[in-house]
Amino acid sequence: MTESPDRPRVGWGLVIHGGVGVLPRARMSEDLEAAYRTCLADSLGAGHRALAGGGSAEDSVVEAIRVMEDSPLFNAGRGSNLDWRGVASMDASIMRGPDLGAGAVSAVTDVRSPIDLARRVMEDCPHVFLSGEGAEAFAREMGIESSPNEWFVTPRRLEALEAARAREAEGDATPNTVSRPPDVPAAEGKGNGRDDVGRPDVAGTGGAGDPLTPEDFAGTVGAVALDREGRIVAGTSTGGMANKKWGRIGDSPVIGSGTYASTRCGVSCTGWGEYFIRNAVAHDIDARMEYLGVSLAEAARQVIHDKLESQLTGLGGIVALDAEGHVELAWNTAGMYRGWVGPGGVPEVGIY
Ligand code: ASP
Repeated sequence: MTESPDRPRVGWGLVIHGGVGVLPRARMSEDLEAAYRTCLADSLGAGHRALAGGGSAEDSVVEAIRVMEDSPLFNAGRGSNLDWRGVASMDASIMRGPDLGAGAVSAVTDVRSPIDLARRVMEDCPHVFLSGEGAEAFAREMGIESSPNEWFVTPRRLEALEAARAREAEGDATPNTVSRPPDVPAAEGKGNGRDDVGRPDVAGTGGAGDPLTPEDFAGTVGAVALDREGRIVAGTSTGGMANKKWGRIGDSPVIGSGTYASTRCGVSCTGWGEYFIRNAVAHDIDARMEYLGVSLAEAARQVIHDKLESQLTGLGGIVALDAEGHVELAWNTAGMYRGWVGPGGVPEVGIY
């Protein structure tokens, strides 16, 4: 494992993320960092094995994401962030490039692997997006493994919930209030056009006064794979934000915002979901390639750095692949858990 160099190119392979909002170095022990790196490498290994064995990009994305969903280190599946009730309420989506097939689920509370369920929606359901109880009923129909909600709840996420509740009680913004884009007039009240919440401390002190800390949106997971047939598939899975309102849905399951794939590229996002929804980030990257004729790297730079950074709190990042196998990793935070692997099977991972 080594730090990821910028923009490698793979013949076939995959790129993954384990979320932005990484733990600050001061709170990252050697053991914990090693555990993150090992899990990222395991995820890449699972996705690579699927492709090397002749599997599809769908297989690779689901296998890679499942490893991170099962790990309590990441904010997806077991170890998901908790909503204000203390419940793990999970979202996931998957999209395949060649025919724009897509599947998404939101607010599922007992599905062991939400990305697996999203794939079943894509492949076995006439609809693209199922939510809540209906999605859970469909999972049972499909014979998908379930676990009681307590199985997803970890001590670390309970602590993050308590911290977020304490900040809220002190009068700080809840995670789903966001500052306004420069061209939108300020709104009254507490809606998502509000502009008085300031920039989160992405370096991660997380003290009183910070509307968000890395723990609030750490660890969403995603993968984009390019298989030997040249097919691109992207997927994303998350527990969303700590202390989110009951029923809040982020960008991760929203096709075009948190996940998108076409014949040009595949994109999986992580970050402050309300921004990613309002800017249709994943689709915007694809659209810039199509309409402006720019490269994946340039499209990602324009969206993640020029566009989102101009909105002050549009924090986040993406991993992506284009049809030629160029890997793109872009983030505007202190770091992003990430990695990629090509045909050789040597995983490259990075955090800061
Ligand atoms: N984008 C996710 C959400 O807003 C959070 C994350 O990426 O960590 O739900």
